[in-house]
Amino acid sequence: MTNCIFCKIISGEISSLKIYEDDLTIAFMDIARDVDGHVLVIPKTHCKNILDCNSTLLNAVMQTVQKLSVHFTENCGYDGVNLLNASDESAGQSVPHFHIHIIPRKNDDGIDAWPKFGGAKQDVQKIYEQLKLL
Ligand code: AMP
Ligand code: ZN
Repeated sequence: MTNCIFCKIISGEISSLKIYEDDLTIAFMDIARDVDGHVLVIPKTHCKNILDCNSTLLNAVMQTVQKLSVHFTENCGYDGVNLLNASDESAGQSVPHFHIHIIPRKNDDGIDAWPKFGGAKQDVQKIYEQLKLL
């Protein structure tokens, strides 16, 4: 898609530190460098986020996420990973091309990767009735 930063990374118009590529996905270092090893996995075909991504691309992205996560823990000295995704601007998505952040973790690295949500406000039964898909 014209004007999409990540599509430009896929085409090579914008350079990146690419760590993995296959037919449907690529992974590269996030320039934010929020932590050591901060990586993004994206589909090579543009979709905005989890809300419009087709199942083929979604499966491919998650398989790459798993492949890299296993590589990081088996070969690169990490113990675990956090996976982060923002889908829609309301959720904090800043680049409108589907991506999963991988945050590699080490025991006792001191990183707090869990958001501070501030607690639920409504009755759980009410929210349950609103959300259930049964
Ligand atoms: P999000 O806020 O979840 O949409 O994340 C977008 C991420 O893309 C941020 O962590 C940015 O640092 C990252 N990002 C933006 N531009 C680039 C770029 N040219 N190369 C690598 N990462 C980028
Ligand atoms: Zn794109």
